[in-house]
Amino acid sequence: MADPEKIRVIAEVSGEIHEVFPYLNAALKGCIYNHPANTLTIRKDQKLITLHAFHITLAKIEDEKEAEEILRWLNDLINDTYENRAKIEPNYSMAAELKALDIFKLLPGTNCKKCGEPTCLAFAVKLVGRDIEIRKCDPLFSERYQEKQKVLVELLQAAGHEVQNIS
Ligand code: SF4
Repeated sequence: MADPEKIRVIAEVSGEIHEVFPYLNAALKGCIYNHPANTLTIRKDQKLITLHAFHITLAKIEDEKEAEEILRWLNDLINDTYENRAKIEPNYSMAAELKALDIFKLLPGTNCKKCGEPTCLAFAVKLVGRDIEIRKCDPLFSERYQEKQKVLVELLQAAGHEVQNIS
């Protein structure tokens, strides 16, 4: 990992969970629901949690203990929401728009101008508006920023952005 202090967790789930996504999308604030791709991205305490039909990814996690706490919270949240689904109006919209500041936090933040923009924030504004490709931020694809890059790509894809040539 580029940041040895953080871990990325992939948790398998025992059954398909995507049926609950539109209910979670209605019940929680700030989710990004990609209905065609069957993913729901939740932000909790600056952590990014992406639910897929058969697995869950957690990014920027401190340690196993934190991962277990989040997974327990998710387990209860998913089960409670599913049990109460008759009382919830499902929301199939993508809901939360990506914000430039959220993107900015995942960029290197060095304002090196290699992307052709004067600052990382200016780049983030263009990225959120789909006016520039993520690949233009060359430093983001160095080993040092690998973890930020993965999270940002995941966030963009969850919001329906096409992300090309990232390998
Ligand atoms: S290339 Fe990346 S790090 Fe450099 S200014 Fe642009 S967005 Fe910031």
